[in-house]
Amino acid sequence: MAKHPHDDLMTTLQGNAGFSLQTVDSARTRMDYTDWLEFVDITSYDYPYITPLLLETYEEWSKELPLLPGIDEVVWFIADYSGQLLLHQEMEEGNRVARDCVNRSAAVSSLSEGSHYLAVPLLSRHTKELFAVLGCRVSGLQPDTAPLALSWVELAGRYFLSCFYKFFKALFVSDVLSLQHKSSQEEHRRNILFQVVQKLHDQIDVDAVLTEVFERISGMYPGVEVELLMSQDYLSRDPRVKSLQLQGEDDHMCVRAFMQGKMLRHECLNEMRQPCLEVAVPLTGKQGVYGVFHLVIPRDDIEEADLRLIEMLADTAGSAFENAKLYEQSNLLVSEFRLINELTKRLNGSLRLKEVFKFATEELLSIFHAEYCCICQIDRDGEYFEVMACNIPELSKEHFPKDYGFSGVVYSTREPMILSDYKADNKMQSKLMEDTGSRSLIVTPLIVRGEVIGTIMLAHRKEHFFSYDNYRLLQVLSSHIALSIANASLHAEVQRMANQDMLTELYARRYLDDRVSQMLRLHEKGCLIIVDIDSFKQINDTFGHQVGDRILKQVCAIIKSTVRKSDISARWGGEELAIYLPEADVHIGQQIAEKIRLRVASETDPQVTVSCGISGWTLESEKVSVESLFYLADMALYKAKKSGRNQSCVG
Ligand code: GH3
Ligand code: MG
Ligand code: MG
Repeated sequence: MAKHPHDDLMTTLQGNAGFSLQTVDSARTRMDYTDWLEFVDITSYDYPYITPLLLETYEEWSKELPLLPGIDEVVWFIADYSGQLLLHQEMEEGNRVARDCVNRSAAVSSLSEGSHYLAVPLLSRHTKELFAVLGCRVSGLQPDTAPLALSWVELAGRYFLSCFYKFFKALFVSDVLSLQHKSSQEEHRRNILFQVVQKLHDQIDVDAVLTEVFERISGMYPGVEVELLMSQDYLSRDPRVKSLQLQGEDDHMCVRAFMQGKMLRHECLNEMRQPCLEVAVPLTGKQGVYGVFHLVIPRDDIEEADLRLIEMLADTAGSAFENAKLYEQSNLLVSEFRLINELTKRLNGSLRLKEVFKFATEELLSIFHAEYCCICQIDRDGEYFEVMACNIPELSKEHFPKDYGFSGVVYSTREPMILSDYKADNKMQSKLMEDTGSRSLIVTPLIVRGEVIGTIMLAHRKEHFFSYDNYRLLQVLSSHIALSIANASLHAEVQRMANQDMLTELYARRYLDDRVSQMLRLHEKGCLIIVDIDSFKQINDTFGHQVGDRILKQVCAIIKSTVRKSDISARWGGEELAIYLPEADVHIGQQIAEKIRLRVASETDPQVTVSCGISGWTLESEKVSVESLFYLADMALYKAKKSGRNQSCVG
């Protein structure tokens, strides 16, 4: 049988000191508790719990001990089950606390000869196991008073035990209560988590997810200060959602929590100087970290288990947020695709450049709820931005150097840009922003086949008006708009080429025919001049065709510089040129023809002359048509030729 430490102590006490030792019968120390203590076994408690309890008991118990006549001195001590001295009355106060250093030999050496020693074993309620020994050294015992003194000591020992159980009971009750509290707290937390998980995964709205989390946290910790710092451009109606400033804030707890993707904590004081726990928990999904919950919770309201709950809550919120965001994004993508489809269909519906610009401006203003829109195009020479479409009348048709303002930046970087507050940023001069008092701006380049052909600018007077999604969408739309502008420009160019004669740079005959036929319907009068170079065949024969061509060009240049811009000059045939003068009568036509004739005669080299045939029409003219007008002019020309050339005749 294993030797009980109890025996060991007793032997030591007896063997070393050689003095009489009386022990109190363990059976007599048994307390008759009938209440709940029956079910408790002290030994189930760890000794580190028992030791302070013994010391506490001793403090309480020793205050109430009366002095007994017949005993000179009583020195009390407490040893644990292994004989380790926990307390000795003669020890210094500091040593009691450092009881771990006191070993059995110290206990033994503190005993001195000529004294009586008593040991009261403190046994556990059920297993009767020894967990400590209350001992005392008694000196100055007289034979007549000894029995009384010893029974007093025994009583004191029993009283110690009773005091101990009182403390133990209090400890036990508070333990049970705290366990009960803990388990109900735990259940509460589990319930909350369960409800939150259920509720969050039902949400497909991003704002609703965040509101749910805020409400739960505020509900659990009424004194909490909570905010969510979002790393991305995320607009929320909730004032508790703010943006996380990552730049230059490396030391900030929330930035560190965001970077490390884990919960961080920090003891602090709140504004009322109450101790609080500051917690930063990242809002993390599978695709990344979206933000950080920042909480300041009064210290008394929060335990370790709460932190785990908050962490789990943030985790759940993170994946619910991500799901809702993905759902929102897929909806956004679908509507973006619809929009792009619709826009390109309508943009491509027209090949007229003016209409494309007008339509694009209207659509952009309505899609982005912008107040101002300005579409600029680089001019033919690549020197200037020309405002092609704009809802600000003062800016329409304006020209700016291609390195001017935000368009200039976008032109050189080829990258779109977003500005949230022009006033605050004030680094760049912009006529658009100044004239309209705008503060928000998005600018995107119009790129076709890798070349920037212009820019789109959208502005609003409110600061922080455009979102990152707006910026991204404009980038997508601008590529379609750029393509439409390019197509319409190309179409216009082809049209221009088809309408123009390459050699003379005058309009082609078909264009003249079309315009004249239009004007016959719309106007009240008009005049046609046909100019024919005299004896041109001979010129060609004399100087060669190349010189002939040069002369033809000279004559055309004279015509162009003689007539008004609204007049239409065309190459009607080989060396026959025609000019239509809208709203002009024959007299004017005659004057112009004469002017041309005289200039040709004096300015051409080698010198040539021209003959002109003129015809005119008014509302009174009978059945006028393009053919009849040309016929009359041709007849007049024939007359001029017949009459000796270098003259003008009216048909
Ligand atoms: P007129 O009109 O005075 O009666 O005599 P003409 O010699 O000018 O008349 P005709 O109609 O017989 O000849 C026209 C000539 O113009 C024939 C052609 O060689 C020349 N011609 C027509 N188109 C061009 C052109 O584009 N370049 C050159 N070099 N010659 C041209
Ligand atoms: Mg001729
Ligand atoms: Mg001719």
